Amino acid sequence: MLVNDLVFKGYSDDGYKLYKCPLCGGEVKVHESVFYGRCDTCLATLIDYKPCAHQVNFHKSKAKFRLNIGGYGTGKTTMDAAEIAMHVFDVPNGRTLITAQSLQQVREAVLPELEKFLPPWFFAKNPTKTPLPKYTMTNGHEIIVYASDDEEKIRSLNLTAFWIVEASGVDYKIFTQLQTRLRNRAAVVKNREGYEIEHKFIGIVESNPEEGWIRDEFLLRSGKIFASKNVDVSSYDKLKTKKPEDSYHSFLSATVDNKYLPKTFISDMCVGKSEKWIRKYIYCYLEVKEGAVYPEYVDNIVDPFPIPKNWVRIFGFDKGWSDATCLACGAIDPTTGICYIYDEYYESQKPITFHARRIKEMIDGCIMYKGIQADPSVHNKSDRDGVSYQQYFYQVSNIWLEEGNNAIMDGIDRVRDFMYMGKLKFFASCVNMKEEAGDYTWKVAKDGTQEDIPVDRKNHLMDALRYLCMGLPFDFKDCYNVDRPTLADNKDTLINRLKPDTDVSDLIGTSEGGAFGLGMYSLN
Ligand SMILES: [Zn+2]
Repeated sequence: MLVNDLVFKGYSDDGYKLYKCPLCGGEVKVHESVFYGRCDTCLATLIDYKPCAHQVNFHKSKAKFRLNIGGYGTGKTTMDAAEIAMHVFDVPNGRTLITAQSLQQVREAVLPELEKFLPPWFFAKNPTKTPLPKYTMTNGHEIIVYASDDEEKIRSLNLTAFWIVEASGVDYKIFTQLQTRLRNRAAVVKNREGYEIEHKFIGIVESNPEEGWIRDEFLLRSGKIFASKNVDVSSYDKLKTKKPEDSYHSFLSATVDNKYLPKTFISDMCVGKSEKWIRKYIYCYLEVKEGAVYPEYVDNIVDPFPIPKNWVRIFGFDKGWSDATCLACGAIDPTTGICYIYDEYYESQKPITFHARRIKEMIDGCIMYKGIQADPSVHNKSDRDGVSYQQYFYQVSNIWLEEGNNAIMDGIDRVRDFMYMGKLKFFASCVNMKEEAGDYTWKVAKDGTQEDIPVDRKNHLMDALRYLCMGLPFDFKDCYNVDRPTLADNKDTLINRLKPDTDVSDLIGTSEGGAFGLGMYSLN
């Protein structure tokens, strides 16, 4: 259907684009308002839609799920309509759902665009418009339209394709529900021996640049991110989460990509808008969340490298049960004085001994500037037996958790300032840290104003990071000007994990390694 080598012959007097039929040499007339036409000689149908440079990858992609995200006026609806139309003609007897928060939105903005790709001579019957729009094609493919809040209806569908329009207004659970509805056998391609060789299922998610599940659950999990040259995606790769989905591809475009917009369209739209707004809605910038506590985080992500053994370390610790217990690990470059957060521990619903053993493995052999800087509540005595978390942790690991400074605003100020000054960098491999930092936002009051307190959710590494930073001196190089007890080399590195009143000389020579060694218990 889609022909790239159409020969344009000019315009007819009555406003049609004239092409030479690539099949028979006859003439094809395409009206200005649509993308289809028919040859006057052989009756072949031709589509004269020509994707822009940034749209080509979208149409070429083989990913089952594709996110099409772009600023206002990027032409994303046309792209999606073209892709859906190709699916409709490619999959006889298939079924495609178009959904959005409101049906009116689909009727007014989407269907007219889609109809530009649907020649009326391929309608098996006249399309229905009310109560729910429906198209039945001569090849048996049906296009249906439901509002996204109609979960009952959506749950019973058997689809070959779906298209979610303005997905920021649609619940994430509708997307996951629709993923499971792509099971109509019409999209399965078999070879001559009857083996399934290919699937033609497709789910298109279309959105303006908005936060929420579109960014967190799709964009940052995409196996591949494509962008037009006007969109800066340099930091998305660093922001990506643990398990990228190969079946997810994202496509980002900016309003300035669209050369067909009226000259003043962009400048008119930007009147009275903030720089932030323009970056987001015109340039499709979604890297930093609105109200982020640490907007500088993304600029301080670095590629991991091996930390030299002689670099001084500092650790921050936060405890939890159903929430994660975590450790942030920092190492200070003696030359530049930069502190690199190079590793993290992040486990929930495990007993103390489990945490203690893993953490011991992580800090073993490290030169520590101070003891582990922990949530000061580790000091609280248990009501039951009067033993604190701190004491218990020490008993099972010989690691003393030092009470850190929990002044929250001071801590945040310090972390932010260290980032701003370029003194605090984060390894891209610290995925939980990355995720928490990306989600760490200021609380918004009921009247919409921002409060001076972060949202208290998924902030465990954020807390550990605060304790760590509050434990650092202003000039990080000072971490190297510390008088260390003159113990044997390997023991020196362990001094800061001990309880402050421990008589170190007692421990030297302890058989099986004692407090310093690994002989206390099996690490398995
Ligand atoms: Zn022809």
